Amino acid sequence: MSEIDCEQVLQLVWQFLDGEVEEVRYREIEAHLAECANCEGRVSFERRLRTLIETKCQEGPVPVELKRRLFKFLEG
Ligand SMILES: [Zn+2]
Repeated sequence: MSEIDCEQVLQLVWQFLDGEVEEVRYREIEAHLAECANCEGRVSFERRLRTLIETKCQEGPVPVELKRRLFKFLEG
């Protein structure tokens, strides 16, 4: 098993997709996703969601507030 657990992965999903995690951590997450269908599904879902948001927000960067609201929504 990898060093990182599901809870940590889910906390880092956005940073992971944004490439804002350290390289070591990035590798840990990738390794975890290879072993954990749960997190893998969650990450692919958020990746699609993020692509969708980017398509809709091509005028500028996605507001942090929007990310927060979406994240809350996904957690609920
Ligand atoms: Zn997991």
